[in-house]
Amino acid sequence: MLGNRLRIARLFGIPIYLDGSWLIIFALVTYSLAASYFPSLYPRWSSFTYWGVALITSVLFFLSVLVHELAHSLVSLALGQRVRGITLFIFGGIAEIEEEPPRALYEFLVAVVGPLTSMAIGVVSLFVGWVIFWWLWPVQTVHAVLRYIGVLNVLLAVFNLLPGFPLDGGRIFRSLVWALTGSYRRATQIATTVGEGLAWLFIIGGGILVFSGHVFDGIWLAFIGWFILSAARGTMQAVEMRRLLEPVPVAQLMRTTLPVVVPYLTLDVLADTILNTGQRAFLVRDPQEGPLGIVTLSDVQGVPASQRAEMRVADVMTPFDALLTVKPSDSLWQALELMAKHDVHQVLVVDETGEIVGVVRRNDILRFLQLQAETRFGRPDAS
Ligand SMILES: [Zn+2]
Repeated sequence: MLGNRLRIARLFGIPIYLDGSWLIIFALVTYSLAASYFPSLYPRWSSFTYWGVALITSVLFFLSVLVHELAHSLVSLALGQRVRGITLFIFGGIAEIEEEPPRALYEFLVAVVGPLTSMAIGVVSLFVGWVIFWWLWPVQTVHAVLRYIGVLNVLLAVFNLLPGFPLDGGRIFRSLVWALTGSYRRATQIATTVGEGLAWLFIIGGGILVFSGHVFDGIWLAFIGWFILSAARGTMQAVEMRRLLEPVPVAQLMRTTLPVVVPYLTLDVLADTILNTGQRAFLVRDPQEGPLGIVTLSDVQGVPASQRAEMRVADVMTPFDALLTVKPSDSLWQALELMAKHDVHQVLVVDETGEIVGVVRRNDILRFLQLQAETRFGRPDAS
C-alpha cells in the first residue's frame, strides 16, 4: 500500500510523504464537494465558485489530517520515541513511530493526542465560522468551508476514538488493558481481537449499504474495515513473533563454525567457493594478523562479475569494528531487531571476553520461526 510515495516536506525534522493512493482520495473528495455537496447546500453559486471552494476545503481537510498525525509524532518525539515519517494515503494518515511503546502511559498519551487535536480543530473551526458569519462578515463561502472542516474534524475525532486497534481508540484501549493486566502481549491480543470485530462490522455494514443502494459509501466502509483487519492481524503477528523469539538465546541458533578465507583471495574464487559449498558467510583471517572481518554473499554480489578477478576479499569485507555484534545470551528477537534496523542479514556473536564465537543469520531465524509455526499450526501450505 505504501509503495510509491513522494516526499513533500520536512516538519520538525519529520519527513512528510504523499502516497500515490492519496491522489485518488484527494480527487474524490474535491469532486464530491464541487459536484454534489456544495451545490445541494448552496444552489446559487457559480460553477467556478463550487470548484474553487471545493479545492480549498479539500486542501484544508488534508492539512488537518496532517496536523492530527503531527500531534501523534510530536508527543512521541517528546517521550523519546523516534518518528520515521508521516504518510498521507487513501485512508487518511499514518505516523510511523519506531519501536513498540515502552510504557502503557506513553502509548496512551501518543494515541489520545490525535483525536483531541481533531476535536480542537473541529470545535474552533465551527466556532470561528459561526462568529465570522453572524457578526463580522456574512460571506457564505467562508462559512461553508469552516463548517465543513469543523464537522469533518469532529467526525474524525469520534471515528478515531472507536476502540478497534489500530485506530487511536484501539491504542487507548490497549494501553488501558496493558496498565490493568501488566501484559503488553495480552493487551495487544485483546485490542486486536476487538479491532477485528469492529473491522468485520464495517465490512458487513458496508455490504448492507451496497445492497441498499449506497454503493460508494458501502464499498468505502468495507475497504476501511479490510484495512483495519489487516493492520490488526499484522500487529498480532509481530507480537506473536516476539513471543517466540524472545526466550531463545542467540547461542542456540548461531553458527559456530564459519569457513575461513584469506583477505587476498580474489572475488571470482570466492564466488566459486560460495557456489560449490553453499556457504554464504566467511571469516576473513590473515595468517599473520589473525581474524579481520566477515565477507558474505551479498558483498560479492555487490561487485559486477567482470571485475571480480581483480578485486580481493579485503576490498569488500566488513571489518570487525564496523560489524554489528550481539552476545550469546541476547535473544533472537534482539538480533532480528538489530538486523532490521541496519538492514543487514547477519550479526556476529561475541562473548564477554571479546572472542568471536559465531554468527547468527536472518534466514536461520526465519526458518526457526517457520518451524515453530508448522509444529503448532500444521504446515501452512497444506490447506
Ligand atoms: Zn490518530
